Amino acid sequence: MEAQRDFLVRMWTQARRRLQDGIRERSRPSPLLTISLSLRRGGWDHSQYTLMANRLPLPPGALRHVDPWHDLETGARNALASAVDAYNFLEDTDLRELAHNHAHHVAALVGGLFGCDIEYSDNTYWDVCPLSLMHYRWGMSAGFTSTRCCSLCGQDIDACEHLLDTRYPVTVRRVDEGTCNACGYHSCSHIGGETVMVYPRPILSEGQLHEVSLVSRPRDPLARFAKFEIDPQMLIQGLGQHPAGRDLRCYRCLHPCGGFTTLPNRAKQSRNPPGQALDTFSWTA
Ligand SMILES: [Zn+2]
Ligand SMILES: [Zn+2]
Ligand SMILES: [Zn+2]
Ligand SMILES: [Zn+2]
Repeated sequence: MEAQRDFLVRMWTQARRRLQDGIRERSRPSPLLTISLSLRRGGWDHSQYTLMANRLPLPPGALRHVDPWHDLETGARNALASAVDAYNFLEDTDLRELAHNHAHHVAALVGGLFGCDIEYSDNTYWDVCPLSLMHYRWGMSAGFTSTRCCSLCGQDIDACEHLLDTRYPVTVRRVDEGTCNACGYHSCSHIGGETVMVYPRPILSEGQLHEVSLVSRPRDPLARFAKFEIDPQMLIQGLGQHPAGRDLRCYRCLHPCGGFTTLPNRAKQSRNPPGQALDTFSWTA
């Protein structure tokens, strides 16, 4: 397994170099292509164009210097987050396997080209790899009760005189730090003092949280854990010594699928789900 990891790392390192070389090649101006002969005779070269570009008036906050590698990484990491979200939504559909494989492909690209760091905070190493976390198939569901009040009169919406399919005139005002009383949004086109026709809305009040439970299918498919603690014993076994704060990197996202971990039985719940194999992390290169 270690040999497999080294092979994957070597392969991805080569791919990264080729990509970086390609970017450098394309962003290096060729005097033959970019500058006409007459301009060259006039003493124009790339540095003068860069100077001119930097003087262009740009909106505040706009990037002056383009960094293709950074943009590539941002795009790739966003794609991975979306792929994992998609799997969480498609888990019980026919697209399940397609979404699963897609997440693996994107994660291998992200981990291989840009790396996947293991978080170290509070003297603890945390698994924050999006692909690894995707393989823990459980999330959180909150149980709570609250009263649904009518946005127009404030009474119980099931008992008051307002009908949900009828519009009523409301004088717009801002309540609770700027929320519009007509539509319930912060930023809207309603102007304070004007009268608009709106449907009554239910407003949840006196909410009481009763419990948060671990479930295999959370009501909100995205209500998942953002990180898991990595067992120090596992780190010692895998690395030969405790890393003691040194940077570690995840390689699980480069490997083929190691399977899913389902909701553990509470009686034998371990801090380290079986998905954390010994060879899936290593010192950073
Ligand atoms: Zn990873
Ligand atoms: Zn009402
Ligand atoms: Zn409004
Ligand atoms: Zn998988």
